[in-house]
Amino acid sequence: MGVDLGITRLATLSDGRYLENPKPLEHSLERIRTIQRTLSRKRFLSKNWFKAKTRLAKQHEHVRDLRRDLFFKLGALLSQEYDLLVLEDLNTQGLIQKGVTRTRRMRLYDSSFSELRRCLEWVFLKRGKTVLAVSAYNTSRECFLCGRINQNLTLEDRVFLCPHCGFTIDRDLNASLVLLKRSGWVPSAVPVELRPLPPLPSLGLKKRRQGGALKQEAPPFMAGWLTQKAL
Ligand SMILES: [Zn+2]
Repeated sequence: MGVDLGITRLATLSDGRYLENPKPLEHSLERIRTIQRTLSRKRFLSKNWFKAKTRLAKQHEHVRDLRRDLFFKLGALLSQEYDLLVLEDLNTQGLIQKGVTRTRRMRLYDSSFSELRRCLEWVFLKRGKTVLAVSAYNTSRECFLCGRINQNLTLEDRVFLCPHCGFTIDRDLNASLVLLKRSGWVPSAVPVELRPLPPLPSLGLKKRRQGGALKQEAPPFMAGWLTQKAL
């Protein structure tokens, strides 16, 4: 199974399912800023300064926890269904520096692609499954169907329309299929439409604490095009 990582959709799977970007940092930014303001008004190293400092650290930790929790849940779900994980060999650092606007840069950082990759890899390897990183070069511009390059595709285009063969597909879905193809697998059919992954058991800390370890909820598997488990 191929996974394309992105900003709008955190992960788009080659079977047509996707995971929205929960943007945990963006959501708690307001709170983080408030604490930072409070902190700046306290006397350096005073008791209240330490209090605010601790609160700030806890908030950052909360964001990290939410992220990691989500990543591991996704890994658990995927490794139940698939034996092979194909990811793009991304230079995330380069992406962050090239980010156009501040918001875009923050979102790139916030989606923590490298951490997501590490989590997915870890879960797959732990279960004795295979992880392949293939070249990310032109994955979003290459047509999955005819293999030619769509030169006119811009970052804003959400739909991939091949000027050579007319193949039309969601941009990220095309990329995840190209990744899969580069690993040597060719899916027997192309998923027709995208569908969101069911909410992974917890996105909030409360539920996570109750559950403790990863909950192994059976994914509602769509009676779809993909029946062979090997992909
Ligand atoms: Zn084409």
